[in-house]
Formats: sequence, C-alpha cells, structure tokens
Amino acid sequence: MTVTRIAPSPTGDPHVGTAYMSLFDYIFAKQQGGTFILRVEDTDQKRYQPEAEARVLAALSWLGLEPDESPATGGPNAPYRQTERKQIYAEHARKLLEEGKAYRAFETTEELAAIREELQRKGLGYGYDGRGRTVPKDESERRAAAGEPFAVRLITPDEGETVVHDLLRGVVRIPNREVPDMVLLKSDGLPTYHLAVVVDDHLMRVTHVVRGEEWLPTAPIHVLLYKAFGWPEPVWIHMPVLKNAVGKKLSKRKDDTNLESYRRQGFLPEALLNYLGTMGWSMPDGREFFTVDEMIQNFSFERVSLGGSIFDLKRLRHYNAKYLRELPVTKLAERVEPFLREAGYRWDDEDYLLDVLDVLRPRAETLTDFTEHGYFFTESFSYTADARKKLRGGQEYLEGLERAFARLESFDEDSIEDTINDYVQRQSGLKKGAVLQPLRAALTGTTHSPGMTEVVSILGRSRVLSRLGRALTAITEGLPDDKPDKLPKDRGDQSSGEEAVKKGEAV
Ligand code: GLU
Repeated sequence: MTVTRIAPSPTGDPHVGTAYMSLFDYIFAKQQGGTFILRVEDTDQKRYQPEAEARVLAALSWLGLEPDESPATGGPNAPYRQTERKQIYAEHARKLLEEGKAYRAFETTEELAAIREELQRKGLGYGYDGRGRTVPKDESERRAAAGEPFAVRLITPDEGETVVHDLLRGVVRIPNREVPDMVLLKSDGLPTYHLAVVVDDHLMRVTHVVRGEEWLPTAPIHVLLYKAFGWPEPVWIHMPVLKNAVGKKLSKRKDDTNLESYRRQGFLPEALLNYLGTMGWSMPDGREFFTVDEMIQNFSFERVSLGGSIFDLKRLRHYNAKYLRELPVTKLAERVEPFLREAGYRWDDEDYLLDVLDVLRPRAETLTDFTEHGYFFTESFSYTADARKKLRGGQEYLEGLERAFARLESFDEDSIEDTINDYVQRQSGLKKGAVLQPLRAALTGTTHSPGMTEVVSILGRSRVLSRLGRALTAITEGLPDDKPDKLPKDRGDQSSGEEAVKKGEAV
C-alpha cells in the first residue's frame, strides 16, 4: 500500500512549502488508495516552538489536506512526535553499534571544533575525520559504562559512490569521501534528523518520500542508512522548491511564506491549492484551473517538471479572484461574513448582503477586498480627500438628484438609471461623470466604487436620500480644505465629514 508523509519541524510559522509538499503527498496517497501521514520532527530542541505543531495542523486542515495519521488523529504508527519515540531511535542506534556499522564518538564540542578547523585548513569541508572508528570496542564499552558522553556515528564508506535513484531526477551520484561519518544519536540521547527520518519512514512503511529538493544533498546519507539497516529504500521524489517572482527560493524573511497570512488575507484554500498544484505539475490537457479531486484523477509524477515552480502572488490573486467569482453567492457569503464581522460591520438582511457581494465580486481578488467597502454596512463613513473635492463642486447636482430620487415611484435599477440619465440630459452640455462623481462621493465617501446605478439601488431610497442630505449639509457647513496645514487647528482632516455623518444619523 502507498504511504506518503509530511514531516514538518515545529519551529515557526506554518510554511507554504509544507502545504505544497502536503498537497502532492495527499494527492498521490488518495489516488493510490493509500495513507498520508503527518509526523512531527521535533528533535531540534533549540528551535522548537510549542504552538507550531497545532498551527501547522490547523493550516493543513484549513486547506482540507487532512492527514490520515497524525499526533492529533493518532493511528497504528503512533506516536507521531519524534520526541516521544526516543527509545525507538536509541534501540536502532544500539543495533548498528552491535553490528559494527556505527561507533561511539567521545569527542567533546571543543575537540570537534578543532577537528573541523583542521579539516577546513586542508580544504576538506566534511566536518569529521572518522577518528572515533579507531577506539577499541572494549574501551568504548568501558567509557560509555563510566558515563562519559558520546555520540553514535554511522560508518560511511570511504571509497566509491552512493547512488540515489530519484524518480524525477534519475540517478544522482555522490562520492562517498564527501559523506562524513554522520552523527545518528547525539550525546543527549536524541536522534539526529537522519536517523529519525530513516527509522520512522521505515517503521511507518512510507513507500514514497516526497520532499523538497533542498533535502537531496542529505539523501545519500539516508540511502547509506537504509543499507546499514538492510531495509528496502522508499521511492525518492525530490520536488522543485518554490521560487518567488524573481526566481529566488522563497524565503521566510523576504517573502510571505506563512500559510496563516494567506488565510488572513482572504485567500480561498481551493484557490491556493489549485495554484500550488500548478507549481511544477500540469494537467494532461494543460488546463490551469482544477480541483483537488480532478488533480487526484489526473495525477502522475511523470508530469512533474523540475522548473516552473514560481510562486507569484499576482498569479495567486488571479486564481483567487476566479474562485471568488465562481462561488454561488450564498457560499461566497459564508466565506466573507467572518471577514466583515471582524472589520466591525453588521447587516440586518441577508438578501442585502448577497446583493452587495454580487456587485463587489467582479473586482474582488481576496475576501478582505470585500471589507474595503464599509459604506455598504455603516452610515458612519468619512469622506476621503478626493471625495470631498468632488462634493465641493457637486452641490447643485446632488440637490437635483435628491429631488429626482425622492419623486421616483419605483426605486428599481432601470428607473434609477433613467433618472440619472434624464437629469444629465436636462443640464445641457454636462458630462455624466460630472454628476456621477459627486453622487459617488456622497453615497460612498470615496471616488471608487461599483457602478452608481447598482449602488443606489442596493442602498435603497432611504439610505440614499439620507446620505445625500448629509453630504449637502457637509457642503453648506464647509468641507475642510484638503491641505491639512491650512486647516484651522480645531478642525482635523475629515472632521467636517464625520460631523455631518453624525447629523445624518440623527435625522
Ligand atoms: N523535518 C524536515 C522538514 O522540516 C523533513 C524533511 C523530510 O521530509 O525528510 O522539512
């Protein structure tokens, strides 16, 4: 049976690269009717962050990439945290010791530093010269029994080469003299990544190790360990790393790699997954938009290419926008509502919300974009500097439209459109924009919004009339100058607009 695994280290924010690997692990496991395991590689005590495990689980669950086995779900291979498997690694290290495939190395930190320095002087950058191999077995036993601290190191061959068969890359050969005798068990009794990853992948019956290409250089060590234990190797698949828009490896410091941040910014999990699915992989028919299920149906590692994994935020926004446009509006509402509530907006009527979302979504790229139109949800919006400029020249038109809207029998989109057009025609020589801009400023406080006919019709007559009245009051009472340095001290930027809003509410 196919078994894949993701093995995050709980050392920081949940990383977009973890989602990327999990997606391929998940897809392949599901396609093969296999199992997708999440194992927590928490043996690096210095970098360990207590919240990180829960955060990565939550992020994967947001994406819908639920592992079949994990520290949260449990499973036949429990425990799934490496710090809870210490005993298992120690037993395996002991086995290699007994078979003469590993040895105890008693060097202190200072001695190791001196060895490293010496090797570097000789132009050999491999960190350790294997001197612990020469300690006789009985001496080694005696020193260990006396409580002297030691590490367990693997005996790696000095000659020849180690071959990694990577499904995507073919045969990768590494000269053995470049592979030092790796530490398997540290003096604190904790395993290194190498020992833990190999022992766990074997015991958990992982058949396909799918991971980022940054792990390719360590793969020979893992191959040597499989050989030392006499175990069959898994299929090695080192996927291309994600790069940013300028072609550099995504970096925690320079790029946004935190999955939670994508969630907060209002990306839809299905859009993010679809986009990640196009990173180094393509559908047989070349289509760019596909669901996880479609990916499962069509997936094969043969279609993974080693280039083309540029993770471009602009492209992701484009994917997200498409998914936003295609959601049924009631589903869209379910996604947007938490963002609107978080922004402090309320609405009484669900149909009103659906109308608002419908009119906003052609321009929206993320769920947070919907929160930038607060005027749909509150009367206490202020006027931007640009909007104030438009209001200032628009008093006459606003009065005219106020009268026309008040007289309208039926306040539907067609009548509203006719009313605006009639009004513009009656003012000879006037461009429609000259009327629409002050109207937009009065109704939204901004100079950017969806079409006025739609906005007027969604807001409804009473809101429209009250906002026009408020804007007119603001104009007569005097809108503040746009250059704050010229304002009288007691009237801050936008204060007049806000005052007017308060008056408007009282009406
Ligand atoms: N713990 C490693 C990581 O943080 C796992 C590498 C692997 O998949 O072997 O990515």
